Amino acid sequence: MTIKAIEGLHHVTSMASSARENNAFFTNLLGLRRVKKTVNFDVPDVYHLYYGDEAGSPGTVMTYFPFPHMRKGRSGVGEVGRTVFAVPPGSLPFWRDRLSTAEVSGLADADDFGEIRLNFEGPDGDGFALVEAEDHRAPWTDGGVNADEAIRGFHSTSMRLQDDDAMGELLTFMGYSKGETRGDVTRFIREGGNEANVIDLETLPGADTAQQGAGSVHHVAFAVPDRAAQLDVRSALVDTGYAVTPVIDRNYFWAIYFRTPGGVLFEVATNEPGFDSDEPLAQLGSGLKLPSQHEHLRAELEKHLEPIEG
Ligand code: ZN
Repeated sequence: MTIKAIEGLHHVTSMASSARENNAFFTNLLGLRRVKKTVNFDVPDVYHLYYGDEAGSPGTVMTYFPFPHMRKGRSGVGEVGRTVFAVPPGSLPFWRDRLSTAEVSGLADADDFGEIRLNFEGPDGDGFALVEAEDHRAPWTDGGVNADEAIRGFHSTSMRLQDDDAMGELLTFMGYSKGETRGDVTRFIREGGNEANVIDLETLPGADTAQQGAGSVHHVAFAVPDRAAQLDVRSALVDTGYAVTPVIDRNYFWAIYFRTPGGVLFEVATNEPGFDSDEPLAQLGSGLKLPSQHEHLRAELEKHLEPIEG
């Protein structure tokens, strides 16, 4: 059997060494909207910052746990190597200029799978790229980047693995179809999914295992419409032998997690209830939002958490 309910990416969560720098990079430079300022529900003295489109639609949301002064990760296999955002055709010269003026590191043109892309790094060496794509999602344009150039959401993530057989099987089980292979990279596509529906698997036999740290992707989350679909996906994964967590309430979505062959942590997250469940759409991301179990820590957290702009 194959899981049908997964629509593509929901969010990608990484780690950073500075909340202030991370917030400035995603809002001021990349022009995304900060859609939530909350804390890591499991480690409440650390922020959980979410950046995306106006509403934080599934498939657009890059999220961060900024651990102050965290050591940088070391790249290798068993991780997401690059997170790729879709931008409109013809917009890469604008971005090359903008990122180079900001002295962003790792800027390099690339041409993968016939797509024009610009690789770059985040403040902690995070692997990113912008790819020109026909994409029908409405961009957030109040962040200083016009509609002709603004990021639409995720295009794909690229995972680095010793061997992609088991992961390829898992993605196929999750409803992805195997596409082209170019060099070391095989593409998987969720046909009919949301627009963040591509996963690339890069095979690097013999490479060292990644060590997680600042700039590393912590986990990648896949979107399902609702809780009923999530329970079906959970049963299907458990029946196949995966150790899947119980359903966890993350306030803005419901989450289950499981470790995949090769080491990458996957989450399956619901599209409901969304980021406007505790503040109005117009004010998303402005106040420090705490889950009820941590509300009693508010005074202490407000004193202790690094102030960020906006
Ligand atoms: Zn997550």
